[in-house]
Amino acid sequence: MDIANLKMELQAKGVKIDYSLEEKIVKKFPTATSDYMSFLIGDVPVAMLNGYYTDSSPFEIKMRGNKFSIFKNGDFLTDVEFLQRPRFFDISTSDGVSMEKLGKLVAPGFLIVYMTTGCIYWGEAQCKFCVTGYIDTLKIKKASWIAELAEKGAKEIKSHIALTSGALPKDRGSKLLAETVNSIKERVNIPVSVNLEPPRNMGWLDKLSNADSIYINLEVYDEKARALFLPGKSEFKLEYYDRIFKRCLEVFEENQVGSVLLAGLEGENTYLEGVEHLASLGVMPVVIPFYPTSLSKLNSLKPPSATKMKEIYLNSIDIIKSYGLDPFKTKAGFMRGGALTAIKEVMRGV
Ligand code: SF4
Repeated sequence: MDIANLKMELQAKGVKIDYSLEEKIVKKFPTATSDYMSFLIGDVPVAMLNGYYTDSSPFEIKMRGNKFSIFKNGDFLTDVEFLQRPRFFDISTSDGVSMEKLGKLVAPGFLIVYMTTGCIYWGEAQCKFCVTGYIDTLKIKKASWIAELAEKGAKEIKSHIALTSGALPKDRGSKLLAETVNSIKERVNIPVSVNLEPPRNMGWLDKLSNADSIYINLEVYDEKARALFLPGKSEFKLEYYDRIFKRCLEVFEENQVGSVLLAGLEGENTYLEGVEHLASLGVMPVVIPFYPTSLSKLNSLKPPSATKMKEIYLNSIDIIKSYGLDPFKTKAGFMRGGALTAIKEVMRGV
């Protein structure tokens, strides 16, 4: 079976799951949900954010004996393995906060922590694809809680951990991330990535240097499309991002500075110009299809087709390689997790 093509098809169309099945299994398999779904096909991690577009998908997950399988138009396609709920989700931090309320398991051995679910742009100026304000987790987390979570994650699921914050006033997101990275690293040696909006004070990038990987996401490259889809965040112009990337590359190692570009929100030409621009600076372009989730402002759209994504992956791979970058060397975060993007499978030719 060509898993790369199947992964691209599943991500383009979404995978349905019957509500009664979801309800029955979600406690044991927390990524078996109709919104965010993550599973393994063999050793390949596959994840997607489903949306209304998924209603017309030919793919559905059902039980086949005691296994979970994907069916296409009712015909068996392949077995899949959902991620088991980690045991530490059942315990609490030393001051009594449930670990389940702190982090999300998003791919095998990959925990993501939304340090806050707040964002100064939320409302009129929020990014139109974003659902951060709806994430079902504690609104604000303390660094010490996450350090305890990371320690358990490292022990039980050999985890790497991504810390993210929405855009907060006065670079408070960067401050919270820096405190948390340092708190984790004092307690346990686990790969940590940080995802942040561009800080206004570049000094924060030095204070984040204990993180293994850093992601500052452009999301969209074309200026006009940025103004349309990121009305608030596009106040930061590309020149400012470039200065930030330059500083990041002085602080972090090769292949550890990344930037997500969402394919499907702009023309392929400008998208690939964005990939080339990032790669030419030494920044890893994280090629991910745009997923229009049902809670986002773009919920009437569809992700790009599998054919389009394959073309984008192949062109991006040529560019990434030509600048000497290697997605397999990123130590933490989305590129290491590799579930939302099929770039590694296309590169491996599986
Ligand atoms: S700045 Fe970040 S958190 Fe805020 S709306 Fe945009 S993507 Fe979401």
